[in-house]
Amino acid sequence: MQLKIYNSLSGEKEIFKPILEGNVGMYVCGPTVYSNVHLGNVRTFLSFDFIYRSLQHLGYKVRYVRNITDAGHLTDDGDVNNDRFVKQTRLEKLEPMEIVQKYTVDFHKVLEMFNLLPPNIEPTATGHIVEQIELTQKLIERGFAYESNGSVYFDVLEYNRRGLNYGELSKRNIEELFANTRDLDGQGEKKNPQDFALWKKASPAHIMRWNSPWGEGFPGWHLECTAMSTKYLGETFDIHGGGMDLKFPHHECEIAQGKACNDAAPVNYWMHANMLTMNSQRMSKSTGNYILPMQLVTGENDFFEKPFHPSIVRFCFLQAHYRSVLDISNDAMTASEKGFIRLMESLKIINGEHIKEKTGNQGTSGFNYSEWKGKAYDALTDDFNSPVLIAHLFEAVKFIFALNDGKETISTEELEDLKATLNAFVFEVLGLQNIEENNNEKLDQTLKVLIELRNQARKAKNFELSDQIRDKLLAEGIELKDGREGTSYVLN
Ligand code: AMP
Ligand code: ZN
Repeated sequence: MQLKIYNSLSGEKEIFKPILEGNVGMYVCGPTVYSNVHLGNVRTFLSFDFIYRSLQHLGYKVRYVRNITDAGHLTDDGDVNNDRFVKQTRLEKLEPMEIVQKYTVDFHKVLEMFNLLPPNIEPTATGHIVEQIELTQKLIERGFAYESNGSVYFDVLEYNRRGLNYGELSKRNIEELFANTRDLDGQGEKKNPQDFALWKKASPAHIMRWNSPWGEGFPGWHLECTAMSTKYLGETFDIHGGGMDLKFPHHECEIAQGKACNDAAPVNYWMHANMLTMNSQRMSKSTGNYILPMQLVTGENDFFEKPFHPSIVRFCFLQAHYRSVLDISNDAMTASEKGFIRLMESLKIINGEHIKEKTGNQGTSGFNYSEWKGKAYDALTDDFNSPVLIAHLFEAVKFIFALNDGKETISTEELEDLKATLNAFVFEVLGLQNIEENNNEKLDQTLKVLIELRNQARKAKNFELSDQIRDKLLAEGIELKDGREGTSYVLN
């Protein structure tokens, strides 16, 4: 089986060859934790979660690094008022690190809700200031960067003078870039308008600041990803991902920094996930065209007629290929919900006991199990084509219903294999969760809270309350059992 990946750098689907056989190093640009993630952000992270799960399912050992941007990230190169963190600290009257903590926690909660697996390493920009200073020094020493009034800029023209090509990823022509550049604040310090900041001098108003050989300041956004990806994955690694909108300038700058530092391309396969739109417009905080994940799940919003379970949202997202735009709407979600329920019903049938009795009848649909399995894996390895994979899953769903009705046949061995394959695709690769099981998890958590409260009551010698908790639960058919390992429960 050959895995093909669409490489944004070449603009082609390529056969994937990892640097170290059987291993994959993957870096994905993480969130800027200055406010709540919106559903559009979730789509990008979910796309890469599916890719991560697929790589693992295909047998690769993956080191998945996804950073947290918790410093700087100016919306342009100049004014402190454009620093997203500075703005938010003023708005919420909090310390910068309180903002970072608050929204990092929110980010993790949201991703957990959609069943995203955590990355193997989740480094932060503020935890890698030293590395960023070292990289800046190296770029100055190699003649690719210059200091100007306490800030350090990458010299784009010098980069191209040495035969390198700034614009190779975004297919932009540097002359055109120069012609189209607006006058930006702070540009006076730069040799050329396209030069980008590696280190910025902190103005007195700037609260997130660090000492450096060039005075107090903070790192440029593009540099953090080069520093952290190099540190954890090496000077050249396999896959770099992020949203389509990060191609330029962010990823273009990462390539330039990597090549200027190490004389080698930092990344072999660039992967870009496409945008989530709502009302055919890109979802974005700044335009107000956005919905928070929790609002969709609770139903507290003006866009959708009812709440949708996170697993159905996840299923809806995966019904579009990661490189296609996805427009989320009430109709799209409702259709996904219907499909999701049918898929889960078929799993209940195939995972149940009585299906074995159904083998041996004469089939009519011509469903060929091994052919089907081949097609499903072809879809997965064809640039992670989730919609085609899901379409194949529904062929199996149809077959399972027919089998259940006694209209189909399959050998016992094939049935076992179909069961294992389908379960793996649905739960492991697509990462869907059975809604009922999820409710059980909630029950489990709730009971743990009650057990904890009962323990507290006992410690406080409030036996009236502790007995009341035990007896009331028992009346509901939930028996608490005290043992040496603590208290457990049995559902009667
Ligand atoms: P940010 O925190 O702004 O850096 O964004 C985090 C990630 O979300 C980036 O990879 C963006 O490309 C991605 N993103 C932002 N808006 C959308 C959207 N509407 N649809 C999909 N991804 C998005
Ligand atoms: Zn990045």
